[in-house]
Amino acid sequence: MAKKILTEHINVPGIETFDVYRKQGGYTAVEKAIKTMTPEEVVEEAKKSGVRGRGGAGFPMGMKWGFLAKPEGVPRYLVCNADESEPGTFKDHHLMKSIPHLLIEGMIISSYALGANKSFIYVRGELMYVIRILEKAIEEAKAQGFLGKNILGSGYDLELIVQPGGGAYICGEETALLESLEGKRGNPRNKPPFPAVKGLYQSPTVVNNVESIANMSWIINNGGDAYAAIGIGRSTGTKLISASGHIEKPGVYEIELGVSVEEFLNSDEYCGGIRKGHHLKALVAGGSSVPILPAHLIMKTANGEDRLMSYESLSDGGFATGTMLGSGGFIVFDETACIVRNTWNFSRFYHHESCGQCSPCREGTGWMEKVLHRIEHGHGSMHDVDLLVDISKKIEGNTICPLGDAAAWPVASAIRHFRDEFVWHITNPHEATQPGAVYRGEMELA
Ligand code: SF4
Repeated sequence: MAKKILTEHINVPGIETFDVYRKQGGYTAVEKAIKTMTPEEVVEEAKKSGVRGRGGAGFPMGMKWGFLAKPEGVPRYLVCNADESEPGTFKDHHLMKSIPHLLIEGMIISSYALGANKSFIYVRGELMYVIRILEKAIEEAKAQGFLGKNILGSGYDLELIVQPGGGAYICGEETALLESLEGKRGNPRNKPPFPAVKGLYQSPTVVNNVESIANMSWIINNGGDAYAAIGIGRSTGTKLISASGHIEKPGVYEIELGVSVEEFLNSDEYCGGIRKGHHLKALVAGGSSVPILPAHLIMKTANGEDRLMSYESLSDGGFATGTMLGSGGFIVFDETACIVRNTWNFSRFYHHESCGQCSPCREGTGWMEKVLHRIEHGHGSMHDVDLLVDISKKIEGNTICPLGDAAAWPVASAIRHFRDEFVWHITNPHEATQPGAVYRGEMELA
C-alpha cells in the first residue's frame, strides 16, 4: 500500500470531530510547532519538504513563504484558497468535509510560521455544508485552546475565519480571491505587486491551497526531510487525485508522486481500469485547463519511458507531447467520447467565467466558443480549425491572469492531437451531428 499522509485516518468513524481527530494524534504537530519551534524553524521544515502548491501551479510552498515581506507594525495574513472550481477537481472538497481538523491544524501551524494573527479559509460558496463543518471544527479547536488568544499558553494569538466564496471560478485566482475577500468584485489584480508584498488589505499575504496546508501537520511531526524522501525528484510527497470519467472506480485517491500513470489508471487500488468493454481514447491529467493527451502519449512519454504521475514526467516533451499535473483533476475518456464536443464544452465554461478585464480573454474565449459551436453543430469550415489555433495563440501569455492560458490550452491541444476528428466533423456534418455519433478513425488508432 502506498504511503498515506492526508487520508490515513479519513475513514475513521467520527474523524470530523475534535475528540476522534485528537485520539488519532491530531494537534500534536501544533503543540510541537508552537511549544518547541520558532516560526523560522517551521518555515525551514516546509522548505526542506519540497512540498509544491497543490492548487495547480506547483510552486514550492516553502519558497513562497520565504517571499513574504516582514515590515514592522503591519499585519500579515494567511489565506487558504478553498475555492476549488476547476472542472474535474474535487479533492479539497473531499478533504474538508471528511477531516476538517487536518486543515485547521495546518492553518494554525502555517499561520504561526508566517506571523499571521488573523487567517482566512475562502471556501467555494456553493459548499455551504462544508463551510458549516469547518466552522464547527474551528469552534471545537478554540474550546480546546488551539485557537484564539494565547494558544497553549504561548502568547501566540490566532483568529481563523471561514469566508464563503463569491461564486465565480475566477475567485480561485489568488488576487481575485483577495479582491473578493475584501468585499469587491473578484477581478484579478495586475502584478507586481505580488500578494507577498501587497496582498489582503495591502498587507503581506500568503495564499495557499487546502491540500498544501493540510500537509503541514505531517511535515512538522515527521520532518521536512522525511516528506522529501517520499515521491520522486522534485515531485515530493503525496498528491490527492480526483479521478473521474470512463473508469471503473471514480473517486479521490492519495498517490505517492512517481507512481506510473498505467498503475494509477489500471490497478484496483486506484481507478480500476477503463470501464468494461471500452478502451482509452484520451486523458486530461490535471483539471480542464491542462492540455489533453491522446492514448498513445498517456502511458509512455515520447521517448518511450513510463509516464509517471509527477510534475516532471507529465510535462515531459513540453506541450508537443506532454501535459501538466495541475490540480490533479484526472478525467478519462474512452472511445465513446467526442473530443470536439468536449472541447466546445470546456470553452463554454471559460468564456462564461472570464471576468472580462482583458481583451484577448474576454473576446477570444467567446470567439473560440462560437467557432467550436459551429463545428460541433455541423456548420464549420476548414478555415475554422486554423482559426481556433490562431485565436488560442493570441490569448496565451497575453492576459492579466492564467485564465487566458487555461482557456487556450485545451483548444490548442485538442487540435494538436485530434485534428482529424475536427476535420471529420467539418467534412461529414450530417453524420457528425447524429445523436451519439463519434469519429471512428481515432478508435482504430487507439
Ligand atoms: Fe479576467 Fe480573463 Fe483577463 Fe483573467 S485573463 S483577468 S479572467 S479577462
